[in-house]
Parts: sequence; structure tokens; C-alpha cells
Amino acid sequence: MDLAHLLQLRSRGEVKRWGAWLDQGAGQALRGELEARARSLGVDAPATLDGKRLLRASLDRAGPAQVRSNPIARDEAFTCLNCGHDVPVGGRRPRDHCPACLHSLHVDDVPGDRAANCGGLLVPMRLEPAPKAMMIVYRCASCGMERRNRVLDDIERPDEGKALRNLLERAASIG
Ligand SMILES: [Zn+2]
Ligand SMILES: [Zn+2]
Repeated sequence: MDLAHLLQLRSRGEVKRWGAWLDQGAGQALRGELEARARSLGVDAPATLDGKRLLRASLDRAGPAQVRSNPIARDEAFTCLNCGHDVPVGGRRPRDHCPACLHSLHVDDVPGDRAANCGGLLVPMRLEPAPKAMMIVYRCASCGMERRNRVLDDIERPDEGKALRNLLERAASIG
């Protein structure tokens, strides 16, 4: 293993594995180089930093190593910006859209990461079947991005049947 290869690590699993390798003392010679590299990126990298964090700090944040691809189960109560409904948490599943009007917000790049800068209203366009659940297809009113969230019909406060029927009818009339 050398510095160039460490700096090309992409997956979180690899960063974890090679971080542990650094912690075992195997990569002592590389620690200094990684610390210098982290500092050059403007990250404080004390010698006490564990291997995984040191590696993460050394990888360019703009690079793909920092892109998360697995969803985060974040479940938060919110007030719907479309209809004003006070939406409770989902419980069994993260509540990511309003049960009354089905609208959502473009706040995530990957579900739950809250990394999107857009903040636009996600407008439900149509329903689409998927292997495990019916999906709501959204389009962001601000940036046009399309996204799919599963219909929440198996939790405490399920999506309202009326809203789902309205969506079906609206989608059918659009064509
Ligand atoms: Zn709503
Ligand atoms: Zn958007």
C-alpha cells in the first residue's frame, strides 16, 4: 500500500478497512504524509486522529469518495409546505412526504442525507409499480429533478386513499 493508492479509496468499506490497517501501526510511514495532505486540504489532522478519520480527512471532499450512496433512515416530523398539514414521524418507515397531499421537499441527494441545496417542492406526478411497493414519482418544482418515494400504506398514519386516488386520476388525465 502506498499514498497514491490510499488517496484513491472510494468506498466507505475500503476507508474503514485501510483505516484499521493504519491503526494497527502497519502504515506508520504513511501517517505523516496523510496528515500533511489533510492539512493541505484545510483539515486539522492531529496525530491522535484514528486511521479511518485521518483517511477521510485526506480524501478530497469534492471527490467521489465522499458521495454516499446508501439511504439514511431519517424520520422527522414536519409541517407540509404545500398544504400546511402537521406531519408526524412515520415510525416503521421514515415519513418523507405528506400523507394528506403527498408532496415532499427536495432536501436530499440520497434519501435522508439532507445534502441537497435545492429545497424545492417535490410535486407528485404519477404512481409507478415497483417490485416491493407502489412508488410515487416526483418532480421538483424548482430544479426539475425526478425522484421516487414509496407509497406509505403500511404505517400508523398511512398516505390518504383520497390523495392517492386524486393522483391516479390526475396522471390519467395528463396521459
Ligand atoms: Zn401536504
Ligand atoms: Zn430541486
